Amino acid sequence: MPKLMNNKNTDSKPLNKKKSKFIFKSPKGMHDILPDDQYLWDRFLKNGKETAEFYGYQKIETPILEEMDVFLKTLGEESDVVEKEMFFVKGGGADKYVLRPEGTAAVCRAFIEHGMSHRPQPVKLWYVGPMFRREQPQAGRYRQFHQIGFEIIGGSIDPIYDAQVILASFRILEQAKIKNLTVNINSIGCRICRPHYRKRLVEYYKKHEKTLCADCKRRLKSNPMRLLDCKNSSCAPLKAKAPSLMDNICVSCSSHLKLVLEYLDELSLPYVLNPHLVRGLDYYSKTVFEIFADQNPLALASGGRYDYLLEEMGSRPTPGTGSAIGIDRVIEQMKAQQVTPPKSSKEKIFFVYLGDIAKKKVLKIIEEFRKTNILTQESFGKDLIKRQMALADKSEAQLALILGQREVFEETIIIRDLKSGLQETVPVTKVVDEVKKRLK
Ligand code: AMP
Repeated sequence: MPKLMNNKNTDSKPLNKKKSKFIFKSPKGMHDILPDDQYLWDRFLKNGKETAEFYGYQKIETPILEEMDVFLKTLGEESDVVEKEMFFVKGGGADKYVLRPEGTAAVCRAFIEHGMSHRPQPVKLWYVGPMFRREQPQAGRYRQFHQIGFEIIGGSIDPIYDAQVILASFRILEQAKIKNLTVNINSIGCRICRPHYRKRLVEYYKKHEKTLCADCKRRLKSNPMRLLDCKNSSCAPLKAKAPSLMDNICVSCSSHLKLVLEYLDELSLPYVLNPHLVRGLDYYSKTVFEIFADQNPLALASGGRYDYLLEEMGSRPTPGTGSAIGIDRVIEQMKAQQVTPPKSSKEKIFFVYLGDIAKKKVLKIIEEFRKTNILTQESFGKDLIKRQMALADKSEAQLALILGQREVFEETIIIRDLKSGLQETVPVTKVVDEVKKRLK
């Protein structure tokens, strides 16, 4: 037996007499998911998993850390994520890792590494987990956030796959009871037509360079497609008259988009064509989309086609398309809509004890219930029986199991129906069966 400590709780004594003013907080832009919100996360994740499985996606998990180049070489050097939002982590020696800023490149890395091109194509994968971007934190924009994502990799460049990844995200948002969802969709062209369009765009903006905001002046040199993404009101009139992607993409890209829209029509998914939608990452081609709920300017889900990404990562040419839902944003929307926690379907009992020996026995009796479907509750911190009974009455439990000194001595236990107040003493060896009988 270990040496007994003296009963005074020295741990809880403050270290200094002076009260410390310092309070630790979660890292900037990162938040705790507290017990009170867990039912929303659980409900959302359960729906997500069921929907993914229904549509034939298989789950994949990739590490939180990836080699830096997985993202540096794929998202685009000029993309915001690569330029300023990556969290770098030092490995040993020359190893350089980053906290993954998104899921697609990591899943494609795994697809190549594990030879998934030898499986029946396309391969449909889903994932869920935290992503990290060093963004300027604001409402709905965090440095650690969570995504559930869908990828369809391999096979042919078929617009039906674009419709399928949009569909999975859309249905999950619907199940989360998010109202008035709309898909914003566009095509950003392919290797053949995009360079021509980019040239026209640069020619157009060059004529008006002086009037551009500072960000757009920079983008004009580094990433002109992002000029279409500018939210600055001073650039809005120029943006409205900019050459439209729709008018400049090639026949193959426009007929691809047309078919995606026909599939969305067939599924009755509401969409609007947004000729200014370009997305922040370089790996996209053809279809790009974002899903919004009305009134909320932040996208709840987004994604697009990435037919060159795997090739850039060293694979043979392999098309792909995907979507990701921002779970934190969805949970906020669910909270705003006051989604209530579901009642637990499991039965509950509450243990009440008197004295140290009874407390020990309760600890052991709880173990007997572990293999049943019955949840147990106790309040070991509150030795007063009156306070324990008050808590039992407030709880969702149907029965209180009371163990006093007499019951310990007689090897019995009292089962009290918390609704009727009726109680009965039973042998402690039969407690599980007696409780089961009463809960039936
Ligand atoms: P992306 O990986 O940029 O295509 O983003 C997919 C989805 O993740 C977006 O539609 C958002 O819902 C969510 N998301 C992206 N960045 C953040 C962020 N910094 N904070 C919270 N959610 C985000």
